[in-house]
Amino acid sequence: MTPPKCTLCKTQQTNFPVKVYLSSYNLKLCQKHFIEWFENRVATTIEKYRMFTPHDKILVAVSGGKDSLGLWFLLSRLGYHAEGLYIDLGIPEYSSQSRTYAQNLASRIQRPLHVVDLASELASIPELRQWSRKPACSLCGTLKRYYMNRIARENAYTVLATGHNLDDEVAVLWNNVMHWNMEYLAKQYPVLPAEGPFLKKVKPLCRISEKESALYTLFHNIPYIKPECPYSTHASSLENKRILQQLEEEKPGTKITFYTGFLKNLSPLLRHPERISSPLTLCIVCGEPTTTEVCAVCQLKQKIQGDNHPPS
Ligand code: SF4
Ligand code: ZN
Repeated sequence: MTPPKCTLCKTQQTNFPVKVYLSSYNLKLCQKHFIEWFENRVATTIEKYRMFTPHDKILVAVSGGKDSLGLWFLLSRLGYHAEGLYIDLGIPEYSSQSRTYAQNLASRIQRPLHVVDLASELASIPELRQWSRKPACSLCGTLKRYYMNRIARENAYTVLATGHNLDDEVAVLWNNVMHWNMEYLAKQYPVLPAEGPFLKKVKPLCRISEKESALYTLFHNIPYIKPECPYSTHASSLENKRILQQLEEEKPGTKITFYTGFLKNLSPLLRHPERISSPLTLCIVCGEPTTTEVCAVCQLKQKIQGDNHPPS
């Protein structure tokens, strides 16, 4: 049996062995073409959603996981001015290991890495749990948002980039739809504009799946923390991800279609509710209700009066 050929090698007269099959796009790719495809997809996402330009100073929130490290590596390869921020949550073993991975990448790409040590700033996540009844992830989320925004503002960054991937976004979207969280749905978008003291936030990997992200770091030989955070085991998002993965396996492309369909069809209406229906106002000529400045009847009247000849 002849081995399968890379979809892109076929068009470029090269012949490298196929390393990846992307069932969502029906693409068989060699390592070189997968990297090209991946980088091009992220670059297109950055442009499509106007995330940032080469003039921006980007702060990448790195956790030590594959997505954020891969994102930082990629942005520096694409020539963006991207520096890193690592927040050490003080979770035994998990934090020290992930911190090392973040620091190793910073030395490899020779970019500065800001480190916030929660234990010395305030208290570690395990300690904070004794002070608050809130779940660890909720405390952690609040603190991460606080320090990300603060470090970014204090150091004059213009954009904050996070490594949320397609699977993360689809799981959140699914949960928001299941519960009809309209407020969250309205805010779920790959770009959140700057608002007052809050910096612009972007998710350049929103159209990249978890598997694609893992392959990118593997092919670039970027080590990252493999075990999940010990507090993540009960997160309901893991359950959502499992269900969605099952749907994806039955029908490849389900996740990307669901997510991009939302961004294209529903998100604009939720973010700009005025587009669903124009607000009513009163006609400036006759005073009857209308959605335009002059109501349809007065427009007709004006047309007839200004034009002595009816249309033939
Ligand atoms: Fe923080 Fe929860 Fe994520 Fe652990 S799983 S890093 S506690 S948000
Ligand atoms: Zn190829």
